[in-house]
Amino acid sequence: MDIVKANMGWIEVVCGPMFSGKSEELIRRLRRAEIARQRVQIFKPSLDDRYSNSEIVSHSQLRIDSQAVESAADIMQRIEARTEVIGIDEANFLGNGLVEVVTRLADLGKRVIVAGLDTDYLGRPFDPIPTLLALAEQITKTLAICMRCGNPAKFTQRLIASDDLIVVGAGGMYEARCRRCFEAGVTPEARQKTVSTEA
Ligand SMILES: [Zn+2]
Repeated sequence: MDIVKANMGWIEVVCGPMFSGKSEELIRRLRRAEIARQRVQIFKPSLDDRYSNSEIVSHSQLRIDSQAVESAADIMQRIEARTEVIGIDEANFLGNGLVEVVTRLADLGKRVIVAGLDTDYLGRPFDPIPTLLALAEQITKTLAICMRCGNPAKFTQRLIASDDLIVVGAGGMYEARCRRCFEAGVTPEARQKTVSTEA
């Protein structure tokens, strides 16, 4: 962000496949804000309890304290008036309700940083990130490294058989793949179906 005068809020989105360092980047930005003594609040969906319920932990074991929330509306209720910077991890678990919450917070003058997957296990745009990308002031796309061939990887390959949009997991259940190695394994009809999350 360049020069921003007092009390102007904005939206930043960090998105990409799994294993691309999204949480790491989110934690890095939030830490810098904390070092500058800004008031920071951090949220993650309680659905994601892979590592800890009171912290965001990256695959590389960076961690930062966070509050677990059930829904996007829950975030709104927990925001303290003096908070200046808000971090939200795993946005996909919070569904499209997050768009309104994030917009309201930015309109209130807060800096909001959201991290999540931009595409799902079939390679389709994954709510609510596509809408947030359109509304954000700043976008960062993180790439992983293809676990098959070493090229830059944009896709999350699911390695287990499941048709559920959300299957919580990490190493062993998913891997990062490049465009060439990604196998969506889906018919053209299924590809056209719109994705919507009810998390
Ligand atoms: Zn590849």
